[in-house]
Amino acid sequence: MNSIQQNIEQITSQIESAQQKCGRPRESVQLLAVSKTKPVDAILEAAHAGQVAFGENYVQEGADKVAYFNEHHPELELEWHFIGPIQSNKSRHVAENFAWVHTVDRAKIAQRLNDQRPAGMPPLQVLMQVNTSGEASKSGLNENEIFALAELISSLPNLTLRGLMSIPANVSDYASQLSAFKQLAGLKDALAKRFPDEQLDTLSMGMSGDMEAAIEAGSTMVRIGTAIFGARDYSKS
Ligand SMILES: *Cc1c(COP(=O)(O)O)cnc(C)c1O
Repeated sequence: MNSIQQNIEQITSQIESAQQKCGRPRESVQLLAVSKTKPVDAILEAAHAGQVAFGENYVQEGADKVAYFNEHHPELELEWHFIGPIQSNKSRHVAENFAWVHTVDRAKIAQRLNDQRPAGMPPLQVLMQVNTSGEASKSGLNENEIFALAELISSLPNLTLRGLMSIPANVSDYASQLSAFKQLAGLKDALAKRFPDEQLDTLSMGMSGDMEAAIEAGSTMVRIGTAIFGARDYSKS
């Protein structure tokens, strides 16, 4: 089995060749290492391989890891992204521990994150989650709701609106993947036009199975878990 370091090197070179293939500049796509369910030792190994940005899905688990690294490895200056669903009674942990949140899809959550962001921390960097596949069961905004929520977020002093995120339906053919991602990229461009004073520079899209299409469509951040850390074991939770 490959080490975490070898996995990161492999993914990084896949990202680079995908960028090259569609003529995008080097380092225009950031790798977010999704470390949910993985122990701090695995995160430490990735950090020693040069990885800085980590994504967590579960509020309490994520907050515990942030506290651990703040206490034991502040020199690593890891950047923590919350990428899971947010219940309003857990929003405080997100506001107090994370640098980024990718999954804001309701006014109530945006307002709470703003109100709960501790004084002295930089503004929380926010992506709005969009449901591009239109499945009623999935979380995320539909196209008509994006602008109203952006209006609110841009008015909140402790939040900085940075862009959009999506988890499209799991399809394997490249053309369908590409069209879902292009839809999200188009929405981000429309948003940037409507809110020229915001720093709308981030598209969080693309996972292990659809990274190439996401990069061709303009992704700036791909979220990769299993290909770095190996399969997750949920049997103990
Ligand atoms: C778990 C997760 C990922 C990473 O998935 P892998 O299949 O492990 O690469 C990416 N994005 C989100 C939102 C996730 O929950």
